[in-house]
Amino acid sequence: MKTLKLTEFGNPILRLKAKQIPLKTLRTREFKSLIKDMIHTMRKTGGVGLAAPQIGKSIRLAVMEIRETPDRPKLKSRGPIAIINPKIKKNLNSKVSDWEGCLSFPGVRGKVQRPKSIMVEYYNEEVEKMAEKATGLWARIFQHEIDHLNGIGCIDKMNTKTMMTTTEFRVRILKKKI
Ligand code: ZN
Repeated sequence: MKTLKLTEFGNPILRLKAKQIPLKTLRTREFKSLIKDMIHTMRKTGGVGLAAPQIGKSIRLAVMEIRETPDRPKLKSRGPIAIINPKIKKNLNSKVSDWEGCLSFPGVRGKVQRPKSIMVEYYNEEVEKMAEKATGLWARIFQHEIDHLNGIGCIDKMNTKTMMTTTEFRVRILKKKI
């Protein structure tokens, strides 16, 4: 497995609308190994999601996984999953504000308002069409990653007054001693 190089904001690929992926591509060995490399890269960099434009590919693919990490203690694990050609079908609840960061905008955290629950559709890596209701952090990750596929970063939606560096975030929000 390879650790892929991350693109950062400033790179125009992060502002493109990524292309739909033809379903026949999903069965190829290249595509399956791309998903494995993306999951490996997401874990290595401590992210909960990674979209293809963030590794330099403008296609509608992202991987997601919730794990307990030092910055995200006491979380229920979920995934990893690959989401292909995902679509938000419906926003179900009123918006809630919570902390977000992005591997393509390193060193920054801030609060972003998003619907608490969504109905989402996507293809998984077995080429099955999935429809699910996502809530809480899982819904937030879906929305953050799908935004990436549309050229949108969480920094576009961030309440700039709440922005802080990851160092300040660790001290002030996670109450860590550094
Ligand atoms: Zn991101």
